[in-house]
Amino acid sequence: MTKVRTVVKHTSPEYPVICKVQVNNSFCYFIHNKIYELAYFLWVFFYISLLASNHKLQTKKLKKIMDPRVEQFMAQIIAKNANENEFHQAVQEVAESLIPYIEENPKYKHAKVLERIAEPERVIMFRIPWLDDKGEIQINKGYRIEMNSAIGPYKGGMRFHPTVNLSILKFLAFEQVLKNSLTTLPMGGGKGGSDFDPKGKSDNEVMRFCQSLMTELCKHIGANTDVPAGDIGVGGREIGYMFGQYKRIRNEFVGVLTGKGIQYGGSLIRPEATGYGAVYFAEEMLKTRGDSFKGKIVTVSGSGNVAQFATEKVNMLGGKVVTVSDSAGFIHDPNGIDAEKLAYVMELKNVKRGRIKEYADKYGCEYYEGKRPWEIKCDVALPCATQNELNEEEAKVLVANGCFVISEGANMPSTPEAVEVYIENKILYGPGKAANAGGVAVSGLEMSQNSLRLSWTREEVDQRLHQIMKDIHATCEKYGKDSSGFINYVNGANIGGFVKVAEAMLAQGAV
Ligand code: NAP
Repeated sequence: MTKVRTVVKHTSPEYPVICKVQVNNSFCYFIHNKIYELAYFLWVFFYISLLASNHKLQTKKLKKIMDPRVEQFMAQIIAKNANENEFHQAVQEVAESLIPYIEENPKYKHAKVLERIAEPERVIMFRIPWLDDKGEIQINKGYRIEMNSAIGPYKGGMRFHPTVNLSILKFLAFEQVLKNSLTTLPMGGGKGGSDFDPKGKSDNEVMRFCQSLMTELCKHIGANTDVPAGDIGVGGREIGYMFGQYKRIRNEFVGVLTGKGIQYGGSLIRPEATGYGAVYFAEEMLKTRGDSFKGKIVTVSGSGNVAQFATEKVNMLGGKVVTVSDSAGFIHDPNGIDAEKLAYVMELKNVKRGRIKEYADKYGCEYYEGKRPWEIKCDVALPCATQNELNEEEAKVLVANGCFVISEGANMPSTPEAVEVYIENKILYGPGKAANAGGVAVSGLEMSQNSLRLSWTREEVDQRLHQIMKDIHATCEKYGKDSSGFINYVNGANIGGFVKVAEAMLAQGAV
């Protein structure tokens, strides 16, 4: 019998790949087909198991600390917002505080206020093409999350960082809704940004990028609609370029951005506000134990806007900051970062755009590459860099070393497990949405000054900021104090921020 050589090309849609094979007879062809079928089914089975185990893992992670009502609520959030882990984390923390409160106040439950707050009113995503210095086209992603406008125009910063994605911006926008409400000012919540990395870019590249971003963003924002500000990677330089482009395209000089330069509508104290505010909040927490910053050892993470002015305010109040960091490592200066050394950090980070390691070279102190500062003994810790920068182990070390005050300059810097350690040990813990609300509060004051076409003095703005931080502390105390007298600032901030937004949403109907 002669053997027949056949060349077969499988192009059927049942098969994920087109294959080219040589077979000797029809039996071989049959076997060959079966092998491919089996491989295909195994592949599908493996893929489905992977999805299922991923879902199980996410739910398991959340199960550890959830009551069944929260679990049910979170199952919906996870199903609707798959793979948005930071968003799940932020919503879960709030749901844990709010669901028991909502059960006691059924009007919020019937109107599904929490479900609505967890769904953005609008998400805008766009392409940002720009030319680098070599004349090559670069493309970044742009986002604006318009989360909730029940109590005022959307308000919240723009973040430029390569890690920016939908999940991170949705968590930030969600937190912003409650934070803005806590300030008592009429601001809704929003957040935006891009995966653009300003590090290593020339001023001209940053300008062209900001102009391209604003060419699209200007269609969606406005002084009475949505008022962005700065955040990680967005400081005075970026706000200036974005404002210039908005004014050029829209031909209107209005307070559409905050954090502006003082010459064109900015507010005094806006650059200082978040860092100062986090320290004012810590000062209020210390007062509840009859204590103050005097003589306290303080660890700070980050060396950007928030970290710099938190350090300045601690120095003013008689404390000693012994660490600052950046994404590459931290420095430990046991002698303290005094005014002169802080001026060096500001020049290094804001003008030269250098690395924090250079501080250690200049002042001869220790630099810890790739590490975070939480192993250093301190009384007060101020995380001022980024989300999830302080985990359970680090929280335990902080507490074991005698740290009893944590005031978050950054947004969600502590993992949920770290927060559990703080609460179990009953230390004074001010979560970001309360402790760092000073920045957006002064942004609100900048909007007021722009509307009035007035500029308040430094003292006036600082005094208002200080009062707002005291008021936020009082709100947290009102809603967070338990029968033993312990203030759970997480519950206090979540419930205190929620009530005003929820009442406004009830009044406005299902919109
Ligand atoms: P910034 O000026 O850009 O400084 C950010 C600092 O954090 C830098 O030292 C940066 O180090 C460090 N950092 C960034 N990503 C990091 C990462 N993945 N790991 C370790 N370090 C990282 O920003 P900022 O305005 O100070 O903001 C800091 C935090 O405060 C953020 O969570 C922000 O959302 C929050 N916040 C800011 C304001 C405000 O008014 N600016 C208001 C409320 C809350 P590199 O230089 O190495 O990147």
